[in-house]
Amino acid sequence: MDIATLKTFCSSDPSRNRLSNPWSEGDYSYATNGYLMVRVDRFPDIPNGKPVTLERMEEYFNVVPETPLLIIKYKKQQCGVCEGSGRISRCPECNGLGMVTFDNAYNNYEVDCKTCDGEGSLVGGKEKCQECNGEGKIIDKSQTVDLDGVQFMVATLEPIFKLPNVKIFVRKECAPATFSFDGGMGIVMPMKV
Ligand SMILES: [Zn+2]
Ligand SMILES: [Zn+2]
Repeated sequence: MDIATLKTFCSSDPSRNRLSNPWSEGDYSYATNGYLMVRVDRFPDIPNGKPVTLERMEEYFNVVPETPLLIIKYKKQQCGVCEGSGRISRCPECNGLGMVTFDNAYNNYEVDCKTCDGEGSLVGGKEKCQECNGEGKIIDKSQTVDLDGVQFMVATLEPIFKLPNVKIFVRKECAPATFSFDGGMGIVMPMKV
């Protein structure tokens, strides 16, 4: 894993900005978004500066996961951006901005574009829909999956699907699950019921 990939596991939520950068400690570098954390061999360029303390963290990382994660079956739903067509075109009225502006001698106005309903794009056309990568379907992130009797939000697990050779260890008592991948390990929080 390179630093850019590690950073994709940091939080992009402005209210969690202390989680917006990876940090190092001991032999490892870490990144977390508050729902899952990954640990890789230390990058010399990433300084110390742990933003969170998690009790029993060493214990969670000291497990060898054995179950392949890819057994998860999850449903997809129609992409709302392209309405399932996989194709979009830039809105000609707002040029993709989703809003239009006017001004006169008295005021400046900024309103949602009525042609595209503020989306910036229209369904159908030449361009591949970025939201669904042209597939017309996206993962239904509101669904949960059951792993060994413990429920996880798909939205929480999804970032780890793209890691190579992911395996997971799920604890019945619903503490974080531990996962491994080629190049590192991580922990992921189950859904609180
Ligand atoms: Zn789409
Ligand atoms: Zn528009």
